[in-house]
Amino acid sequence: MNEELIIADNLKVYFPIRRGIFLQTIGYVKAVDGINLTVMKNQDLSIVGESGSGKTTLGKAIVGLIRPTKGNVFYMFNNKNFDMSQNLPIEIRQSVQMIFQDPFSSLNPRLKIIDTLKEALEIRNIFKSRNDIIDYLGDLLQKVGLKREYLYRYPHEFSGGQRQRISIVRAISMKPKVIVLDEPTSSLDVSVQSQVLNLLQDIKREYDLTYIFITHNISVAKYMGQKIAVMYLGKIVEINEADNLINAPLHPYTKLLLSAVIEVQSEHVEKELKIGEPPSPVNIPSGCRFRNRCPFAMEICERTEPELIEHENALVACHLYSDLKNKP
Ligand code: SF4
Repeated sequence: MNEELIIADNLKVYFPIRRGIFLQTIGYVKAVDGINLTVMKNQDLSIVGESGSGKTTLGKAIVGLIRPTKGNVFYMFNNKNFDMSQNLPIEIRQSVQMIFQDPFSSLNPRLKIIDTLKEALEIRNIFKSRNDIIDYLGDLLQKVGLKREYLYRYPHEFSGGQRQRISIVRAISMKPKVIVLDEPTSSLDVSVQSQVLNLLQDIKREYDLTYIFITHNISVAKYMGQKIAVMYLGKIVEINEADNLINAPLHPYTKLLLSAVIEVQSEHVEKELKIGEPPSPVNIPSGCRFRNRCPFAMEICERTEPELIEHENALVACHLYSDLKNKP
């Protein structure tokens, strides 16, 4: 069913840079700089980009952890539209969860797992007794391959992979509809990463979840998302079905990301693209923000910022695909 779940509407998140004894604002880090995005129910979206692209900030704005500077994130819950930056009832707020890269950061090291996990459940007041909560959480621990008795251990007693499984329990215990996952496997051993990704796929099917999966790894993005959005310096530069984006990338930056992945080689990947360094999000270039790294840059790329436009069922922000390139 084609049901809109999350809509980002011209979303901007700027962080002020302050200097001097009066902490005057001398500029802004434009972490998210005008993003329009729609996530459909059960159509997982991967957001891929280098570090500093703004993808984590975008994820936090989606779940309401960061208030947008401009624009909105709307969330469709029980056929009603809610603005995630507003004060919302707890059951709505908790139905959009986030899992972080470092599972340790979301677990209080001084609390046993049971005490961390039951905290949010008690606010909802939906369980009759502490024993009901313990039963519920014990069942969830078993679902993610851990033992019930682990409820009585402390976070430091677990491996990184086990801690991330506990973070998954913490998220699904809220009965969410959407989970934003921010690089949930990148801090784990390679041998554990695929186990956690497979577990996430199983959990998603069982609990009818929609994932927004943030990663720097385009292969993981393909595995976890039906669609992929490519982000560069606060903007989305390309969105397409995952297979199409991998096999026929349009934006030069998408091609660059793909050229860095040895196992994904196709005739569309231009070998002459160089990785280079992204510019600072404080001093974003005029026109196309990718132009300093782009081998196809034209005069118009310096003057005019490309809009995200439709091209062959994809959305792409590049003058190579716009009519403007032929205009003086
Ligand atoms: Fe390259 Fe120009 Fe396209 Fe930007 S708009 S990616 S500089 S061709």
